[in-house]
Amino acid sequence: MKVVEIFDSIDGEGLRVGKTVSFIRLAGCNLRCTYCDTLYALFGEDEPCRYTEMTVGEVFSAANKSFGRITLTGGEPLLHSESAELCDMLAEAGCEINIETNGAADITEFMSRVKHRDNIFFTIDYKLPSSGMEDKMLWSNFEVLRSCDVVKFVVGSEQDTEVMKNTVRRLNGIYASSARPHIYAGTVFGSCEPSKLVDAILGDPELKDVTFQLQIHKFIWDPEKRGV
Ligand code: SF4
Repeated sequence: MKVVEIFDSIDGEGLRVGKTVSFIRLAGCNLRCTYCDTLYALFGEDEPCRYTEMTVGEVFSAANKSFGRITLTGGEPLLHSESAELCDMLAEAGCEINIETNGAADITEFMSRVKHRDNIFFTIDYKLPSSGMEDKMLWSNFEVLRSCDVVKFVVGSEQDTEVMKNTVRRLNGIYASSARPHIYAGTVFGSCEPSKLVDAILGDPELKDVTFQLQIHKFIWDPEKRGV
């Protein structure tokens, strides 16, 4: 596996925000979002991607299992075929694994290769227009989510807000409320007024169950800092 970094921190967003976790960041991504804050984990950028080639067993050994929580991220972790085996090994060691995925990698195919599905949940992005990647979203991913999964929106413009509203309506139409995945929404750090997004959530009954979030790691540490 091409591993950019393995480190301990707290989850900066989502269901486990503020909880201690061990992060595993894998190299490479099939998208190029305008606001990407992990360009150092992508190939073909100005800055070369520095990674270490490791076996699944080596990644498993290097990850800190003592928290019982792992966040598998990237880049796009589902592009690595070994991620399924790694998740099973971590699950067998008693860990819950949060897979941060970009909405453009097939989660059904991935889950078909995993034994311990109950130990895994997805935090899956729905990329909005300002990312430049909305046309890469695999809608089939958003139809097979579980109530433990999270759909995440990162809003960078008024157009994004409108598309987010339409997408939440679509999700509300697919899932009964008890089976619906969690929905989280935040803003592109430093480029969009968070209060406007809160107002949009308050003003639309369809968004009443959306959880607003800030990426707390960008307030605790320098937003450019790696390995946190
Ligand atoms: S999906 Fe994530 S890692 Fe890939 S380009 Fe977009 S923000 Fe960067």
